[in-house]
Amino acid sequence: MKKYAVFGNPIKHSMSPLIHTYFAKSLNIELTYEAILGNIGKFQIEAGGFLKKGGLGFNITLPFKQEAFNLAETRSDIAEITGSVNTISLKKGRVHGDNTDGYGFIKDIKNNIGCNLESKKVLLLGAGGAAMGIIPNILYERPFELKICNRTLEKAKKLCNKFSDLGKLDIVEMQDTENYKFDVIINSTSAGMSNSDFSLPVNFFKDNTVCYDLSYGIATNSFKNWADKNNLIFYDGLGMLLEQAAESFYIWESKRPLITDELKNILKAKL
Ligand code: NDP
Repeated sequence: MKKYAVFGNPIKHSMSPLIHTYFAKSLNIELTYEAILGNIGKFQIEAGGFLKKGGLGFNITLPFKQEAFNLAETRSDIAEITGSVNTISLKKGRVHGDNTDGYGFIKDIKNNIGCNLESKKVLLLGAGGAAMGIIPNILYERPFELKICNRTLEKAKKLCNKFSDLGKLDIVEMQDTENYKFDVIINSTSAGMSNSDFSLPVNFFKDNTVCYDLSYGIATNSFKNWADKNNLIFYDGLGMLLEQAAESFYIWESKRPLITDELKNILKAKL
């Protein structure tokens, strides 16, 4: 039996096992996919051990994406650029790292939702691992500009420096008074998990600003409530979760699973 997994800490609430076993069933592929709680400081040993015991690949979630980058012997271009890996596969016997988060985000916002980022003014909230994973793909869409706003300013500055070669990228602070009126606002913070209050200054948005939250489930509540209050269109990150998973599955099995309404409904019922 083919063996796959997802490593993270925490991992209990991961929906990846459900998604990948659904994909496998729909394509008549026999495999197992388990959620593994990685121990901090032991990722290299534990993940390496999974492959030594016959594992063919795995996903990586918080907080091990940088460690997975270091574990990989070869890497895709996007993994090299982002500096983080969410999918490990075996390529000609070597441990190969990829990152499907940016692909999944663009696939969802552009193809599924129909929101093209080209020539748009885009605001990205947050400067953590998820932001790092999607910034290159956002810039490849050639937005008019991408501004990053983060609670810890230094982290936003660091990401701007890291990706400055890829497009027009800068930081913005909540107290900036310029009339930005962003076309698209993407939330990549984990603030929703702690149910923090969410608010943006009026010069940041306009009537038809599109709001996209990488989070899903109750973690979207504060951003969604704010968007609803301001009559803005809002999308959660469930579509991205499914698209990045489908791309990982394709990397492993060379078969592209269909993302069905049935699967979406199964996930929504679990949130
Ligand atoms: P990180 O821990 O790497 O980064 C968290 C970010 O959130 C930082 O920028 C942090 O700011 C900010 N933040 C945390 N709490 C607050 C707060 N109370 N107020 C303001 N800012 C805050 O997490 P990730 O980047 O890996 O993940 C972020 C979110 O994205 C998670 O909810 C995760 O589930 C989601 N995600 C969704 C995916 C999908 O497929 N849909 C894929 C990947 C992630 P600071 O720097 O100041 O600490």
